[in-house]
Amino acid sequence: MPGRVVVVGSVNVDLVVSGERLPAPGETVTGGTFSRHGGGKGANQAVAAARLGVETILVGAVGDDDLGRAARAVLSSDAVDTRFVETAPTATGVALILVGAGGENLISVAPGANATVRPEAVALAFRELGLTAADVVLVSNEIPGEAVVAALSFARSAAARTILNPAPASGIGREALGTASIVTPNRGELVALAAALGLEPADHDPATVARALLEAARLADAVVVTLGPAGALLVDRSGEARAPAPTVHATDATGAGDAFNGCLAASLATGLGLRDALRRAVVAGAIATTRTGARDGMPTAAALDDAIAAMGTA
Ligand code: ADP
Repeated sequence: MPGRVVVVGSVNVDLVVSGERLPAPGETVTGGTFSRHGGGKGANQAVAAARLGVETILVGAVGDDDLGRAARAVLSSDAVDTRFVETAPTATGVALILVGAGGENLISVAPGANATVRPEAVALAFRELGLTAADVVLVSNEIPGEAVVAALSFARSAAARTILNPAPASGIGREALGTASIVTPNRGELVALAAALGLEPADHDPATVARALLEAARLADAVVVTLGPAGALLVDRSGEARAPAPTVHATDATGAGDAFNGCLAASLATGLGLRDALRRAVVAGAIATTRTGARDGMPTAAALDDAIAAMGTA
């Protein structure tokens, strides 16, 4: 039986005004265009996994407001199981985003309900789900640190595989890293994690830094570093593997990391080995950059298979 993906993480609503230029403090700039998008790393990763046809459950929280109800409805329409997305007596997490004509931006985030995710709620969800070794638990860091550590350690006691996406990297230390099976930083997060652990790798090559992190943090399985257009790099005890990303016409890299992580988790849950899962995840990340917005470009299983087949014949 295939496993499930259980995502523990944030749910945000992104409120975006795109205008000619960004306002200076105290200034009002009019004439922009407004759009609203589902966001939050947890929610985005859950959508990425669910679109690939794998049973996906999200553990998190929205506020008791219209944005929260809308966020939940959108997740459900993407087949994400939101039973364990609590409704907290506060506001839904919001990212206010201003974008200028050249793509430059200003972002201010109010975590709202995401700050209320408690270890007890995670424990309850895992118990009711009857987590098993076939399941993959994917955790990102836009929720309180105690909830991150709790999710990783409860999952480990159920023998489920865990992926820690250390985004953002701040506050992640030895405890979380040492409980994860796989950690998936991008280049900047890799450097931040190494600094947080006081590591002084021999050089700044991602492979060197990733190996230092693997050893120092006693990670169970692997460090997987995402490298944007260059794909991803895996470092584990048996060596290293590189998975190049296909060349695409990238228009918006928002959500590429979420597509990558969701696909990695979904592929492991269907029983693929880590190296094969990595080869699918780099393609999912690349496809996600070809459309605007974090979720719009996330591929279905059929779209991903087609892209992989096209790479094989290119
Ligand atoms: P993050 O979004 O977390 O910073 P990356 O930028 O490393 O992460 O992107 C995650 C994955 O998305 C990469 O490993 C790669 O597969 C894919 N990707 C990102 N940007 C591009 C790009 N310009 N072209 C092709 N693939 C990309």
